[in-house]
Amino acid sequence: MKYEVIVVGAGPGGAFAARQLAKKGVKVLLIEKQTIPRKKPCAGWVTPEVFDLLGWDPKKLNILLEETRGGILWIKGEPLHTDYQRPIAYGILRNEFDTKIVEEARSAGADLIDGTKVTDIDIGSDRAMVITSGGKTFEGQIIIGAGGTYCPVAKGSGLRKSWARDELCVTFSSETRIGKEKAAQLTKHRGYPEFFFMPWEMGYGWYFLKQDYLSIGLGVRCNLLSRDKNLRFLLNNFLNQLRELGRLDDSVTLSPFRGYNYGTYFGPTGMTYGNRVLLVGDAGGFSLNSSGEGIRPALVTGGFAAEIVLDALHRGRFDEHTLSPYEEKWYPALRRYYRRGSFLIYQLRHTTITEVFHNFIMKEDDLRRLLFFDPFYNVVPPKKTYLGILSRIPKLTRYAFKTMAVESISLSDLWRPNYP
Ligand SMILES: Cc1cc2nc3c(=O)[nH]c(=O)nc-3n(C[C@H](O)[C@H](O)[C@H](O)COP(=O)(O)OP(=O)(O)OC[C@H]3O[C@@H](n4cnc5c(N)ncnc54)[C@H](O)[C@@H]3O)c2cc1C
Repeated sequence: MKYEVIVVGAGPGGAFAARQLAKKGVKVLLIEKQTIPRKKPCAGWVTPEVFDLLGWDPKKLNILLEETRGGILWIKGEPLHTDYQRPIAYGILRNEFDTKIVEEARSAGADLIDGTKVTDIDIGSDRAMVITSGGKTFEGQIIIGAGGTYCPVAKGSGLRKSWARDELCVTFSSETRIGKEKAAQLTKHRGYPEFFFMPWEMGYGWYFLKQDYLSIGLGVRCNLLSRDKNLRFLLNNFLNQLRELGRLDDSVTLSPFRGYNYGTYFGPTGMTYGNRVLLVGDAGGFSLNSSGEGIRPALVTGGFAAEIVLDALHRGRFDEHTLSPYEEKWYPALRRYYRRGSFLIYQLRHTTITEVFHNFIMKEDDLRRLLFFDPFYNVVPPKKTYLGILSRIPKLTRYAFKTMAVESISLSDLWRPNYP
Protein backbone atom coordinates (compact mmCIF):
# COMPACT_ATOMS: atom_id res chain seq x y z
CA MET A 1 0.00 0.00 0.00
CA LYS A 2 1.26 3.51 -0.78
CA TYR A 3 1.65 6.29 1.79
CA GLU A 4 3.40 9.62 1.78
CA VAL A 5 5.15 9.01 5.10
CA ILE A 6 5.81 5.82 7.05
CA VAL A 7 6.66 6.13 10.74
CA VAL A 8 8.27 3.09 12.36
CA GLY A 9 7.65 2.86 16.12
CA ALA A 10 4.65 4.21 18.03
CA GLY A 11 6.46 5.58 21.09
CA PRO A 12 6.06 9.29 21.89
CA GLY A 13 8.47 10.35 19.10
CA GLY A 14 6.82 8.36 16.32
CA ALA A 15 3.23 8.85 17.43
CA PHE A 16 3.73 12.61 17.81
CA ALA A 17 5.36 12.94 14.37
CA ALA A 18 2.47 10.92 12.88
CA ARG A 19 -0.08 13.09 14.68
CA GLN A 20 1.47 16.33 13.48
CA LEU A 21 1.66 15.11 9.88
CA ALA A 22 -1.84 13.65 9.84
CA LYS A 23 -3.20 16.95 11.18
CA LYS A 24 -1.79 18.61 8.06
CA GLY A 25 -3.56 16.11 5.82
CA VAL A 26 -0.53 13.94 5.04
CA LYS A 27 -1.20 10.27 4.30
CA VAL A 28 0.79 8.62 7.06
CA LEU A 29 1.23 5.07 8.30
CA LEU A 30 2.40 4.29 11.86
CA ILE A 31 3.80 0.77 12.30
CA GLU A 32 4.45 -0.69 15.74
CA LYS A 33 5.77 -4.14 16.62
CA GLN A 34 3.89 -4.38 19.93
CA THR A 35 0.16 -4.20 20.31
CA ILE A 36 -1.18 -0.88 21.57
CA PRO A 37 -1.31 -0.16 24.50
CA ARG A 38 2.31 -1.20 24.43
CA LYS A 39 4.58 -1.94 27.35
CA LYS A 40 7.50 0.41 27.92
CA PRO A 41 9.99 0.14 30.79
CA CYS A 42 10.14 3.61 32.32
CA ALA A 43 10.19 5.58 35.57
CA GLY A 44 7.33 7.59 34.08
CA TRP A 45 7.94 11.23 34.90
CA VAL A 46 7.61 14.10 32.46
CA THR A 47 8.45 17.79 32.63
CA PRO A 48 5.77 20.48 32.08
CA GLU A 49 7.10 21.37 28.59
CA VAL A 50 5.91 17.95 27.50
CA PHE A 51 2.31 19.07 27.97
CA ASP A 52 3.03 22.32 26.12
CA LEU A 53 4.43 20.36 23.18
CA LEU A 54 1.43 18.06 23.10
CA GLY A 55 -1.02 20.92 23.62
CA TRP A 56 -2.48 19.17 26.66
CA ASP A 57 -3.68 20.89 29.80
CA PRO A 58 -2.54 18.70 32.73
CA LYS A 59 -5.58 19.82 34.75
CA LYS A 60 -7.98 18.49 32.15
CA LEU A 61 -6.36 15.12 31.41
CA ASN A 62 -8.13 11.90 32.29
CA ILE A 63 -4.94 9.89 32.80
CA LEU A 64 -3.01 9.27 36.00
CA LEU A 65 -0.92 12.30 36.94
CA GLU A 66 1.19 12.59 40.06
CA GLU A 67 2.50 16.05 40.78
CA THR A 68 6.21 16.13 41.59
CA ARG A 69 7.29 19.08 43.70
CA GLY A 70 10.93 18.21 44.29
CA GLY A 71 12.84 15.15 45.32
CA ILE A 72 15.03 13.39 47.83
CA LEU A 73 18.63 12.74 46.95
CA TRP A 74 20.29 9.97 48.93
CA ILE A 75 24.00 10.51 49.37
CA LYS A 76 26.09 8.19 51.54
CA GLY A 77 22.96 6.98 53.30
CA GLU A 78 21.64 10.47 54.04
CA PRO A 79 18.32 11.73 52.59
CA LEU A 80 18.61 15.30 51.30
CA HIS A 81 15.25 16.87 50.67
CA THR A 82 14.54 19.60 48.10
CA ASP A 83 11.12 21.19 47.79
CA TYR A 84 10.18 23.56 44.94
CA GLN A 85 6.68 23.97 46.40
CA ARG A 86 5.18 23.86 42.92
CA PRO A 87 4.83 21.11 40.33
CA ILE A 88 8.10 20.78 38.41
CA ALA A 89 7.29 17.40 36.86
CA TYR A 90 4.49 14.83 36.70
CA GLY A 91 4.37 11.09 37.20
CA ILE A 92 2.50 9.23 34.47
CA LEU A 93 1.83 5.64 33.38
CA ARG A 94 3.41 5.09 29.99
CA ASN A 95 0.70 2.78 28.69
CA GLU A 96 -1.92 5.51 29.24
CA PHE A 97 0.22 8.46 28.24
CA ASP A 98 1.71 6.98 25.06
CA THR A 99 -1.59 5.47 23.96
CA LYS A 100 -3.23 8.88 24.14
CA ILE A 101 -0.71 10.25 21.63
CA VAL A 102 -1.30 7.26 19.33
CA GLU A 103 -5.07 7.76 19.59
CA GLU A 104 -4.67 11.43 18.69
CA ALA A 105 -2.58 10.45 15.65
CA ARG A 106 -5.31 8.05 14.57
CA SER A 107 -8.09 10.59 15.13
CA ALA A 108 -6.13 13.03 12.98
CA GLY A 109 -6.16 10.46 10.15
CA ALA A 110 -2.97 8.37 10.55
CA ASP A 111 -3.29 4.64 9.85
CA LEU A 112 -1.93 2.41 12.60
CA ILE A 113 -0.71 -1.14 12.12
CA ASP A 114 0.37 -2.61 15.45
CA GLY A 115 1.64 -6.08 16.32
CA THR A 116 3.79 -5.91 13.17
CA LYS A 117 7.57 -5.86 13.24
CA VAL A 118 9.57 -3.97 10.65
CA THR A 119 12.58 -6.07 9.66
CA ASP A 120 14.22 -3.88 7.05
CA ILE A 121 13.87 -0.86 4.82
CA ASP A 122 14.74 -0.32 1.18
CA ILE A 123 15.55 3.19 0.00
CA GLY A 124 15.21 3.71 -3.76
CA SER A 125 15.68 6.79 -5.91
CA ASP A 126 11.92 7.37 -6.23
CA ARG A 127 10.46 5.75 -3.09
CA ALA A 128 11.18 4.32 0.38
CA MET A 129 9.89 0.93 1.46
CA VAL A 130 9.51 -0.85 4.79
CA ILE A 131 9.48 -4.62 4.95
CA THR A 132 7.70 -6.39 7.80
CA SER A 133 8.27 -9.78 9.41
CA GLY A 134 5.17 -11.16 7.66
CA GLY A 135 6.82 -10.31 4.34
CA LYS A 136 4.42 -7.43 3.69
CA THR A 137 5.86 -4.23 2.24
CA PHE A 138 4.65 -0.64 2.52
CA GLU A 139 5.74 2.17 0.26
CA GLY A 140 6.13 5.86 1.00
CA GLN A 141 8.14 8.90 0.01
CA ILE A 142 9.99 9.07 3.30
CA ILE A 143 10.46 7.04 6.50
CA ILE A 144 10.67 8.42 10.03
CA GLY A 145 12.67 6.04 12.23
CA ALA A 146 11.17 6.14 15.73
CA GLY A 147 11.83 2.56 16.74
CA GLY A 148 13.84 3.32 19.89
CA THR A 149 17.40 2.20 20.64
CA TYR A 150 17.62 -0.60 18.09
CA CYS A 151 15.46 1.03 15.44
CA PRO A 152 15.37 -0.98 12.19
CA VAL A 153 15.31 2.27 10.20
CA ALA A 154 18.54 3.48 11.81
CA LYS A 155 20.13 0.12 11.05
CA GLY A 156 18.70 -0.38 7.57
CA SER A 157 19.67 3.12 6.43
CA GLY A 158 23.18 2.70 7.85
CA LEU A 159 22.75 5.81 10.03
CA ARG A 160 23.38 3.74 13.15
CA LYS A 161 24.51 0.15 12.98
CA SER A 162 25.40 -0.24 16.67
CA TRP A 163 26.10 1.59 19.94
CA ALA A 164 29.41 1.92 21.78
CA ARG A 165 29.26 0.65 25.37
CA ASP A 166 30.04 4.06 26.83
CA GLU A 167 27.06 5.60 25.00
CA LEU A 168 24.55 3.25 26.55
CA CYS A 169 22.65 3.50 29.81
CA VAL A 170 21.59 0.02 30.93
CA THR A 171 18.51 -0.15 33.08
CA PHE A 172 16.30 -2.43 35.12
CA SER A 173 12.86 -1.20 36.10
CA SER A 174 9.60 -2.41 37.56
CA GLU A 175 6.19 -0.77 38.06
CA THR A 176 3.77 -2.35 40.52
CA ARG A 177 0.30 -1.42 41.69
CA ILE A 178 0.56 -1.76 45.45
CA GLY A 179 -2.69 -0.17 46.64
CA LYS A 180 -3.21 3.15 48.44
CA GLU A 181 -2.86 1.81 51.97
CA LYS A 182 0.41 0.05 51.28
CA ALA A 183 1.72 3.09 49.46
CA ALA A 184 0.96 5.33 52.45
CA GLN A 185 2.58 2.79 54.75
CA LEU A 186 5.83 2.53 52.77
CA THR A 187 6.58 6.21 52.27
CA LYS A 188 5.39 9.58 53.47
CA HIS A 189 7.10 11.30 50.56
CA ARG A 190 4.40 11.34 47.90
CA GLY A 191 5.34 13.84 45.21
CA TYR A 192 9.05 13.64 46.07
CA PRO A 193 10.78 10.87 44.11
CA GLU A 194 13.83 9.43 45.81
CA PHE A 195 17.12 9.20 43.93
CA PHE A 196 19.96 6.98 45.06
CA PHE A 197 23.02 8.52 43.59
CA MET A 198 25.67 6.19 42.07
CA PRO A 199 28.51 8.49 40.95
CA TRP A 200 31.01 5.71 40.19
CA GLU A 201 28.53 4.05 37.87
CA MET A 202 27.38 7.41 36.46
CA GLY A 203 23.80 6.60 37.25
CA TYR A 204 21.15 6.40 39.93
CA GLY A 205 18.44 4.25 41.38
CA TRP A 206 14.92 5.62 41.79
CA TYR A 207 11.96 5.01 44.08
CA PHE A 208 8.93 6.80 42.80
CA LEU A 209 5.30 6.57 43.83
CA LYS A 210 2.61 7.53 41.33
CA GLN A 211 -0.63 7.40 43.28
CA ASP A 212 -0.68 3.71 44.20
CA TYR A 213 1.84 2.61 41.55
CA LEU A 214 5.38 2.05 42.74
CA SER A 215 8.16 2.54 40.22
CA ILE A 216 11.60 1.22 41.13
CA GLY A 217 14.60 1.00 38.90
CA LEU A 218 18.17 1.91 38.20
CA GLY A 219 20.20 3.01 35.23
CA VAL A 220 23.98 3.06 34.93
CA ARG A 221 26.59 3.48 32.25
CA CYS A 222 27.18 0.24 30.39
CA ASN A 223 30.99 0.43 30.16
CA LEU A 224 31.30 0.87 33.94
CA LEU A 225 29.82 -2.54 34.66
CA SER A 226 31.98 -5.61 35.14
CA ARG A 227 31.41 -9.32 35.56
CA ASP A 228 31.33 -8.96 39.37
CA LYS A 229 29.66 -5.58 39.54
CA ASN A 230 26.96 -6.28 36.99
CA LEU A 231 23.48 -4.76 36.78
CA ARG A 232 21.80 -7.62 38.68
CA PHE A 233 24.31 -7.20 41.51
CA LEU A 234 23.65 -3.44 41.68
CA LEU A 235 19.90 -4.03 41.60
CA ASN A 236 20.05 -6.55 44.47
CA ASN A 237 22.11 -4.10 46.55
CA PHE A 238 19.63 -1.34 45.79
CA LEU A 239 16.62 -3.48 46.74
CA ASN A 240 18.32 -4.48 50.00
CA GLN A 241 18.92 -0.82 50.75
CA LEU A 242 15.22 -0.07 50.11
CA ARG A 243 14.21 -2.91 52.44
CA GLU A 244 16.53 -1.62 55.18
CA LEU A 245 14.96 1.83 54.84
CA GLY A 246 11.48 0.34 55.11
CA ARG A 247 10.60 1.41 51.55
CA LEU A 248 9.89 -2.23 50.71
CA ASP A 249 8.67 -5.16 52.75
CA ASP A 250 7.89 -8.83 52.26
CA SER A 251 4.20 -8.18 51.59
CA VAL A 252 5.04 -6.37 48.34
CA THR A 253 5.57 -8.56 45.31
CA LEU A 254 7.16 -6.36 42.70
CA SER A 255 6.38 -6.87 39.02
CA PRO A 256 9.34 -8.54 37.32
CA PHE A 257 12.18 -6.15 36.52
CA ARG A 258 12.66 -5.55 32.81
CA GLY A 259 15.92 -4.52 31.21
CA TYR A 260 16.33 -1.90 28.51
CA ASN A 261 19.31 0.00 27.08
CA TYR A 262 19.31 3.43 25.56
CA GLY A 263 21.87 5.98 24.43
CA THR A 264 21.89 8.82 26.92
CA TYR A 265 25.45 9.87 27.65
CA PHE A 266 26.29 12.19 24.76
CA GLY A 267 23.18 13.06 22.79
CA PRO A 268 23.25 12.08 19.11
CA THR A 269 26.70 10.94 18.03
CA GLY A 270 25.87 10.03 14.45
CA MET A 271 23.86 11.39 11.54
CA THR A 272 20.17 11.82 12.27
CA TYR A 273 19.00 12.10 8.67
CA GLY A 274 19.84 10.58 5.29
CA ASN A 275 18.21 10.04 1.93
CA ARG A 276 14.46 9.65 2.56
CA VAL A 277 15.09 8.94 6.27
CA LEU A 278 14.92 10.89 9.55
CA LEU A 279 15.57 9.53 13.05
CA VAL A 280 13.68 10.80 16.09
CA GLY A 281 13.78 10.10 19.84
CA ASP A 282 15.90 7.22 21.09
CA ALA A 283 16.52 6.00 17.54
CA GLY A 284 18.67 9.11 17.09
CA GLY A 285 20.13 9.01 20.63
CA PHE A 286 18.28 12.16 21.73
CA SER A 287 17.70 11.39 25.45
CA LEU A 288 19.19 13.84 27.92
CA ASN A 289 22.33 12.91 29.83
CA SER A 290 21.57 14.95 32.95
CA SER A 291 18.70 12.64 33.91
CA GLY A 292 17.88 10.11 31.20
CA GLU A 293 14.77 12.10 30.28
CA GLY A 294 13.78 10.92 26.82
CA ILE A 295 10.08 11.68 26.35
CA ARG A 296 10.53 15.41 25.86
CA PRO A 297 13.43 15.05 23.36
CA ALA A 298 11.40 12.41 21.50
CA LEU A 299 8.50 14.88 21.17
CA VAL A 300 10.78 17.78 20.27
CA THR A 301 12.49 15.79 17.50
CA GLY A 302 9.21 14.16 16.38
CA GLY A 303 7.76 17.65 15.95
CA PHE A 304 10.80 18.92 14.04
CA ALA A 305 10.83 15.82 11.82
CA ALA A 306 7.17 16.44 10.93
CA GLU A 307 7.99 20.05 9.94
CA ILE A 308 10.92 18.96 7.77
CA VAL A 309 8.88 16.22 6.11
CA LEU A 310 6.06 18.64 5.32
CA ASP A 311 8.53 20.94 3.65
CA ALA A 312 10.10 18.03 1.70
CA LEU A 313 6.65 16.86 0.53
CA HIS A 314 5.89 20.39 -0.59
CA ARG A 315 9.11 20.53 -2.59
CA GLY A 316 8.85 16.94 -3.80
CA ARG A 317 12.49 16.31 -2.80
CA PHE A 318 13.65 13.83 -0.16
CA ASP A 319 17.43 13.70 -0.55
CA GLU A 320 19.85 14.12 2.33
CA HIS A 321 20.50 17.75 1.44
CA THR A 322 16.79 18.67 1.51
CA LEU A 323 16.44 17.01 4.92
CA SER A 324 19.56 18.60 6.42
CA PRO A 325 17.62 21.49 8.07
CA TYR A 326 16.43 18.83 10.53
CA GLU A 327 19.77 19.08 12.30
CA GLU A 328 19.62 22.88 12.12
CA LYS A 329 16.40 22.64 14.10
CA TRP A 330 17.25 20.13 16.82
CA TYR A 331 20.84 21.26 17.38
CA PRO A 332 20.08 24.73 18.81
CA ALA A 333 17.06 23.39 20.69
CA LEU A 334 18.80 20.49 22.45
CA ARG A 335 22.57 20.74 22.15
CA ARG A 336 22.97 23.08 25.14
CA TYR A 337 21.18 20.54 27.36
CA TYR A 338 23.60 17.76 26.33
CA ARG A 339 26.52 20.12 26.97
CA ARG A 340 25.28 21.00 30.45
CA GLY A 341 24.71 17.32 31.25
CA SER A 342 28.19 16.34 30.06
CA PHE A 343 29.75 19.22 31.96
CA LEU A 344 28.07 18.16 35.20
CA ILE A 345 28.38 14.39 35.01
CA TYR A 346 32.00 14.41 33.86
CA GLN A 347 33.06 16.32 36.95
CA LEU A 348 32.13 13.23 38.92
CA ARG A 349 34.94 11.21 37.40
CA HIS A 350 37.37 12.87 39.79
CA THR A 351 37.92 11.89 43.41
CA THR A 352 38.28 15.44 44.69
CA ILE A 353 35.14 16.75 43.08
CA THR A 354 33.08 13.72 44.01
CA GLU A 355 34.16 14.02 47.64
CA VAL A 356 33.45 17.76 47.68
CA PHE A 357 30.13 16.95 46.12
CA HIS A 358 29.33 14.35 48.80
CA ASN A 359 30.69 16.25 51.80
CA PHE A 360 29.39 19.73 51.13
CA ILE A 361 27.74 20.58 47.86
CA MET A 362 24.79 18.25 48.00
CA LYS A 363 24.15 19.04 51.65
CA GLU A 364 23.27 22.66 50.83
CA ASP A 365 19.81 22.99 49.37
CA ASP A 366 20.83 25.93 47.19
CA LEU A 367 23.73 23.99 45.61
CA ARG A 368 21.72 20.77 45.38
CA ARG A 369 19.14 22.61 43.31
CA LEU A 370 21.75 24.28 41.16
CA LEU A 371 23.80 21.19 40.40
CA PHE A 372 21.32 18.34 40.63
CA PHE A 373 17.59 19.06 40.64
CA ASP A 374 17.49 22.10 38.30
CA PRO A 375 19.37 20.29 35.49
CA PHE A 376 17.62 16.99 36.26
CA TYR A 377 14.11 18.39 35.82
CA ASN A 378 15.22 21.18 33.46
CA VAL A 379 13.82 23.73 35.87
CA VAL A 380 16.22 26.38 34.53
CA PRO A 381 17.97 26.75 31.16
CA PRO A 382 21.68 25.75 30.97
CA LYS A 383 22.86 29.37 30.86
CA LYS A 384 21.40 29.96 34.32
CA THR A 385 23.22 26.89 35.66
CA TYR A 386 26.58 28.19 34.42
CA LEU A 387 25.94 31.67 35.83
CA GLY A 388 24.92 30.08 39.13
CA ILE A 389 28.18 28.10 39.24
CA LEU A 390 30.26 31.18 38.43
CA SER A 391 28.67 33.18 41.21
CA ARG A 392 29.41 30.42 43.71
CA ILE A 393 33.04 29.80 42.79
CA PRO A 394 34.45 31.23 46.07
CA LYS A 395 32.20 28.91 48.07
CA LEU A 396 33.01 25.88 45.90
CA THR A 397 36.76 26.55 46.18
CA ARG A 398 36.53 26.85 49.97
CA TYR A 399 34.71 23.51 50.10
CA ALA A 400 37.34 21.90 47.86
CA PHE A 401 40.14 22.89 50.26
CA LYS A 402 38.16 21.78 53.31
CA THR A 403 37.56 18.38 51.70
CA MET A 404 41.19 17.96 50.74
CA ALA A 405 42.25 18.66 54.32
CA VAL A 406 39.95 15.95 55.67
CA GLU A 407 40.07 13.28 52.97
CA SER A 408 43.83 13.48 52.19
CA ILE A 409 43.20 13.84 48.49
CA SER A 410 44.90 16.32 46.25
CA LEU A 411 44.13 18.69 43.44
CA SER A 412 45.99 16.36 41.08
CA ASP A 413 43.09 13.91 41.45
CA LEU A 414 41.16 16.32 39.31
CA TRP A 415 43.14 15.04 36.34
CA ARG A 416 42.90 11.42 37.39
CA PRO A 417 39.54 9.83 36.68
CA ASN A 418 38.91 7.38 39.46
CA TYR A 419 36.09 5.20 38.35
CA PRO A 420 36.93 1.62 37.32
C1 LIG B 1 14.02 2.29 32.60
C2 LIG B 1 13.79 3.58 31.87
C3 LIG B 1 13.24 4.66 32.53
C4 LIG B 1 12.99 5.85 31.84
N1 LIG B 1 12.38 6.86 32.52
C5 LIG B 1 12.07 8.00 31.85
C6 LIG B 1 11.33 9.02 32.50
O1 LIG B 1 10.93 8.89 33.65
N2 LIG B 1 11.07 10.16 31.81
C7 LIG B 1 11.48 10.33 30.52
O2 LIG B 1 11.22 11.40 29.93
N3 LIG B 1 12.16 9.36 29.88
C8 LIG B 1 12.44 8.19 30.50
N4 LIG B 1 13.08 7.19 29.85
C9 LIG B 1 13.43 7.39 28.44
C10 LIG B 1 12.19 7.25 27.57
O3 LIG B 1 11.47 6.09 27.91
C11 LIG B 1 12.58 7.18 26.11
O4 LIG B 1 13.57 8.10 25.83
C12 LIG B 1 11.38 7.45 25.21
O5 LIG B 1 10.41 6.44 25.35
C13 LIG B 1 11.82 7.54 23.76
O6 LIG B 1 10.71 7.60 22.94
P1 LIG B 1 10.79 7.05 21.45
O7 LIG B 1 9.47 7.32 20.84
O8 LIG B 1 12.00 7.55 20.79
O9 LIG B 1 11.06 5.48 21.58
P2 LIG B 1 10.28 4.36 22.35
O10 LIG B 1 9.38 4.90 23.38
O11 LIG B 1 11.31 3.36 22.77
O12 LIG B 1 9.37 3.71 21.23
C14 LIG B 1 9.91 2.97 20.19
C15 LIG B 1 8.84 2.05 19.66
O13 LIG B 1 9.33 1.41 18.50
C16 LIG B 1 8.87 0.09 18.48
N5 LIG B 1 9.74 -0.70 17.64
C17 LIG B 1 11.02 -1.08 17.89
N6 LIG B 1 11.48 -1.84 16.91
C18 LIG B 1 10.48 -1.97 16.01
C19 LIG B 1 10.36 -2.68 14.80
N7 LIG B 1 11.34 -3.42 14.33
N8 LIG B 1 9.20 -2.59 14.12
C20 LIG B 1 8.17 -1.84 14.59
N9 LIG B 1 8.23 -1.17 15.77
C21 LIG B 1 9.38 -1.23 16.46
C22 LIG B 1 8.94 -0.32 19.94
O14 LIG B 1 8.11 -1.43 20.22
C23 LIG B 1 8.49 0.94 20.64
O15 LIG B 1 7.10 0.93 20.87
C24 LIG B 1 13.35 5.98 30.49
C25 LIG B 1 13.92 4.90 29.82
C26 LIG B 1 14.13 3.72 30.50
C27 LIG B 1 14.73 2.56 29.74
